[in-house]
Amino acid sequence: MELGRALCVVTGASRGFGLTVCRELAARVAPGSWLLLVARSEERLRQEAGRLMERWPGLGISWVAADLSTKEGVRRTVMAADGLKSEREAADTVLIINNAGSLGDISKSFVDMTDVVAVDNYFSFNVSSALCLTSSLLTTFPRCPGLRRVVVNVSSLAAIKPFKSWTLYCTGKAARDMMFRVLAEEEADVRVLSYGPGPLDTDMQEELRTQMADAEMRQCFIDMKNEGKLVDIEASARKMLDIIQTNTYKSGDHVDFYEV
Ligand code: NDP
Repeated sequence: MELGRALCVVTGASRGFGLTVCRELAARVAPGSWLLLVARSEERLRQEAGRLMERWPGLGISWVAADLSTKEGVRRTVMAADGLKSEREAADTVLIINNAGSLGDISKSFVDMTDVVAVDNYFSFNVSSALCLTSSLLTTFPRCPGLRRVVVNVSSLAAIKPFKSWTLYCTGKAARDMMFRVLAEEEADVRVLSYGPGPLDTDMQEELRTQMADAEMRQCFIDMKNEGKLVDIEASARKMLDIIQTNTYKSGDHVDFYEV
């Protein structure tokens, strides 16, 4: 499946996996496509948008600096996407990539998780905002003959396997997988993919190696880095886009980097 002229919204696009996905996407979509990059760091977004525009002059690149842990951040992102509505007529694909995420406090174990507000804040960003952003974007770009709508949830092995010190992260990823499975059940025209990108050498991995409460788990991630066992981030981004384009997965399924 060619992506053709695509309208793409990518969250967490300022660095790490989201940024790599944007670079790979830019190379795959047709001229006239638009990429909307979303994250909090305005300067990083500005710089990356500039690089992409220079490299791919046929594409429209825009960005919005928004904190997706807040209602205002979600609203600003939806407003920015609304600005692309006039491009919808000519679009073949709308692609929404929910990539932004955080680990939460991994220095605590389950029994230390006593702060309801901190827990709520975690789920507000990692679960609620992904739901409300996706629903709003699907409303902005409704079902339309000839328009493919694809929603990606950047997931993790943590969605299906418990890990010590990851109470919030595992719970959030599991909730997101289920949330997007419901979307797949309800909206037959929307292709929904939960993709586990494998362990990637990003800021998030650095956090795992330095802040994780469980010493054995922490050592495991240090060893993985030292032994060169982390997954190549570009290979993982390419694989995710290949899965979308090959289009043989069951909508709503969780597909991991190592599975395909
Ligand atoms: P990073 O921590 O390296 O990057 C996170 C991205 O999310 C950044 O662009 C950051 O930008 C953005 N972000 C963070 N908080 C907010 C916020 N409140 N509002 C808007 N944007 C925000 O993460 P990775 O690239 O490693 O991870 C990307 C996804 O892949 C995540 O969902 C993660 O759970 C998943 N994943 C990662 C793995 C790994 O090994 N790295 C393994 C499995 C899954 P900014 O700071 O500018 O806002």
